[in-house]
Amino acid sequence: MAWSDKSHPHRLLLTKQFPLGLETLPVFQPVMQAANRIWNSCVWHSREIFRQKDRWPTEAELKAKFKSFAVWRELHSQSAQAVVEEYFEAVSAYRKHRENGHLEMNPPNFKPKNHLRTVTWKRQGFDVEDNTLVLKLSRKKEPIKVALPEGWNVVTLPDGTGVRGIPVEVKVKAVVRRRKVENLVLHVTFDLGVVPVYRAGAVSAYDYNSGLVARATSNGQLDLFICREILSQVQYRNKVLAEFQEKMSRLKEGSRRWRRCLSAKARKLKKLDRRIRQMEHALTKLFAELDGAEGVAFSVVGDLTDLRRSARTGMKGKKANQKVNQMAYERLQSEQRYKNLMRGIEIDPWTEKNTSSTCCLCGTRNSAWRKHRGLWVCGKCKLILQADLNGAANLLKQYLFGSCTGRELPFAFRGVRVWRWDGRHNRFVQVSPRAA
Ligand SMILES: [Zn+2]
Repeated sequence: MAWSDKSHPHRLLLTKQFPLGLETLPVFQPVMQAANRIWNSCVWHSREIFRQKDRWPTEAELKAKFKSFAVWRELHSQSAQAVVEEYFEAVSAYRKHRENGHLEMNPPNFKPKNHLRTVTWKRQGFDVEDNTLVLKLSRKKEPIKVALPEGWNVVTLPDGTGVRGIPVEVKVKAVVRRRKVENLVLHVTFDLGVVPVYRAGAVSAYDYNSGLVARATSNGQLDLFICREILSQVQYRNKVLAEFQEKMSRLKEGSRRWRRCLSAKARKLKKLDRRIRQMEHALTKLFAELDGAEGVAFSVVGDLTDLRRSARTGMKGKKANQKVNQMAYERLQSEQRYKNLMRGIEIDPWTEKNTSSTCCLCGTRNSAWRKHRGLWVCGKCKLILQADLNGAANLLKQYLFGSCTGRELPFAFRGVRVWRWDGRHNRFVQVSPRAA
């Protein structure tokens, strides 16, 4: 996995995984269980303070309190702090869900005593000695040394060049299946630095829609990606979730049947989520590959903070209840961002204002020309085009000239390609335009 860093839009961070093998379990088990004890202390103290003072404690409050605890001195101080930070992330996620109307959510809870919690080592928590990572514990304890294979810190970019990354964060996670620890995995996050991006080249624009993504490039290429599979998987996932919640609401909380239901729910959702994520990755990878192959320097996407999308889905600032039944636009965009960045292509969010109510060819604005069944039929220049492709072309014009209205398209279209998910080969494939 990778992402671009908030500190600089072109800074690339990337995580590599190294399986450690079960023989390292005796070394890491005490550390992971110590982290788990800190987590449980967080839960316990938050509840105490909530009971006594009717408020949640702050992060700083808990960190200060725990400094005197013996368990705090088992880990490196940054690793111990990271647990508290994770706890507060979980609390704020819980609160956000509550605010969005998901009243069935529970606050972060205690974990069983022998639970192996993921331990994080921040920049000052580890040293690098050639091909060995030295993971520091508290000052009095011997650090843990992990030998890594040659080339462990080299990341290969899509064009084949290898980049040496600087490790900035290390995590040790347990892989657990059916209550059995199967392996320990080391996750190392590398900083690949600020990636040079091309400053000249073509521009592509993407219009994200429910179940459909349209693409237009300044080379005149139009693409339509049919994502009904992703959408139906998202909807099916939410249906399964609702069914489980309904079933569990009828059982006594904490009972054996309730617990069995809970673990079945987690298993099923994990499986469905994996499937959705796989399709999302295939889609954004295809975007980046097309952009790379067609000499694109800038890739434009609709600005998600824009009002148009929320207006279209009828959510205008309301609590986003329907949002769960859509594709995860934000996640898709951030995936598209780092995949493009690895190819030296910059992603730029741009306003989608007027793009769905203007003719991309002649620039006349008339929202009535967006006909039913998603077709754009221009009353002036007689252009007939799939409405989302019209939107993508307008987004492109908007990016190039500041506005999509009152201006003709400066290039000719070269035709439309249609892509759809192929379940047998697990990727998007090109199909005949009639399929759309
Ligand atoms: Zn027109």
